[in-house]
Amino acid sequence: MANQEIFDFASSLDRSYFIDNENKSLAYINEPLPIGYGQTISQPSLVVEMSQLLSLDNTKSVLEIGTGSGYQTAILARFSRHVYTIERIPELAQSARKKLEALGITNISYSVGDGSIGWPQYAPYDRIIVTAAAQRMPEELVGQLAEGGVMILPMGPRGVQELLKVTRKPDGEIRIQSIEYVRFVELRGKYGWSGEDTASNPYTS
Ligand code: SAH
Repeated sequence: MANQEIFDFASSLDRSYFIDNENKSLAYINEPLPIGYGQTISQPSLVVEMSQLLSLDNTKSVLEIGTGSGYQTAILARFSRHVYTIERIPELAQSARKKLEALGITNISYSVGDGSIGWPQYAPYDRIIVTAAAQRMPEELVGQLAEGGVMILPMGPRGVQELLKVTRKPDGEIRIQSIEYVRFVELRGKYGWSGEDTASNPYTS
């Protein structure tokens, strides 16, 4: 899928629709914004970039960890065959689902729980995207990547992480490339961070 098409679609998507609080009016600036429960909606430029890094097309299945507001999910759904999205906070999952269904988007399956261990039922996935920072490589997710599959995830310590591109080559070899430094909210669960939630600080996704 041409990168320009993803950019154009994201530009046409009303980001304020995915924000329910007082930050709605700030939706048009290229910054991450709080969406409640200590989480953030990512800045549009990073959502577009991560979507482009996935090399999507409408034959591909995508597993998304961290539904959040559903903003990224809407873009993934537009450029793939089916999106499987997992969110650990039930209220966010429910709100995102309501919004995406109201847009008439039907190629999304929703789950609530720890997405750091993936969603074995529908594996393998052609593409996997993690929108919260992992502490270490989520091995189950690597295991759920199809041959030739690509996973994009931020990984590293609190505060700043590397955005990684993990590719499973057709011969099974795993290749890991570092793309750039980013700041995301914390992934929780098995491959995430435990302890106090510090996500109300401006760590971004
Ligand atoms: N991409 C989304 C939100 C990113 S914020 C958007 O653009 O709106 C990251 C999200 O990941 C948060 O909603 C957080 O609750 C969720 N999350 C963190 N750890 C998770 C886990 N282990 N499983 C599923 N979701 C998780």
